[in-house]
Amino acid sequence: MSKYQPHRCDFCTGTVQPIVAKAEPIHVRGGLVLLDGVVIGKCDRCGHCYFPAEIVKRAERAAENPQEASQVRTIPVVAA
Ligand SMILES: [Zn+2]
Repeated sequence: MSKYQPHRCDFCTGTVQPIVAKAEPIHVRGGLVLLDGVVIGKCDRCGHCYFPAEIVKRAERAAENPQEASQVRTIPVVAA
């Protein structure tokens, strides 16, 4: 598990802290992927998520190769 150094948020005056993702959605080339159990950054004020480059790469790989992902879930959609 890679480390995540706390840093100032780009969007507010909050601090981005490392958290363990729980079914956190990430949009990447190839589609929507859920992150579970990996360490990402989350702003303690605005809640913006920051994804380490390595996580983004893994998510892109999972989007392109769903058969290699840890799990594949069907995501219900609520639309207007
Ligand atoms: Zn913020």
